[in-house]
Amino acid sequence: MTLYRKTALIEAHQWFKNGDHPHDRVGKQELDEVALLSAHPELLDEAQGMVGPVLENAPTYERLEGAVVRFFRRPDVSGDAKCRHCDAAMHVHGWIDTLEGGHIVCPGDWIATGSAGERWPIKPGIFAATYADTRSPAGGVDENTSDGYHTFKELYRYRLLYNAALFNEWARRDEKATRLEDCFGVHKSTRHSDGEPAFGGGWFVVVATLPTGQITNHYEMADWDLFHVPVRERAATWDGHTPADVADRLARFICGGAK
Ligand SMILES: [Zn+2]
Repeated sequence: MTLYRKTALIEAHQWFKNGDHPHDRVGKQELDEVALLSAHPELLDEAQGMVGPVLENAPTYERLEGAVVRFFRRPDVSGDAKCRHCDAAMHVHGWIDTLEGGHIVCPGDWIATGSAGERWPIKPGIFAATYADTRSPAGGVDENTSDGYHTFKELYRYRLLYNAALFNEWARRDEKATRLEDCFGVHKSTRHSDGEPAFGGGWFVVVATLPTGQITNHYEMADWDLFHVPVRERAATWDGHTPADVADRLARFICGGAK
């Protein structure tokens, strides 16, 4: 599944009805200052800015629709029509904006949040098969969820540090290589080969090309300095590998031994 290649799942909440997601903020909302001023420009005092008493009496408004999971509404689909996924009426469904454009949310679907803040729905059956054993007592999955031995946070940290230790060694090895086929071309870059910032920015990619194939990982910029490897303006072109490919390439590399 592409979501593994792109991101780590850091949080998930099950959705049954409008307002269920913790970030939906349905109900009475206080208008913030910017929204208040744009709605009521007459409240701005040119000399003093906004006056305190006015702010204290700032109006509220009722937010009826979830900010994360919105109402499902399409002119071409009747609200009474039955969903082909879950058989429930369409008017009890939600809609979520995703990187791919958007997705219908059935009651009972889980809303996953990735480490870059992106969200997408997961069917309960798939969620249970994939994540049920890692659920924390609170009912959600986050970086502190543990399999009984390690939390996600620990495992990602281990992966990062082992990765950095290995790539740093390989970068030293690259420096000494006298033949091109002995060079793994280890590097890091904030941009993918097409020039786009990795994951939209704030991330970087590390790349090595082993005799068994290319391997890559993404990390947040906070960990940039752990990798003492050459920096490239743009990363090498991604060859389409999946995390499973990386595991396979590493395993074959280890079995074959380094040249
Ligand atoms: Zn449905």
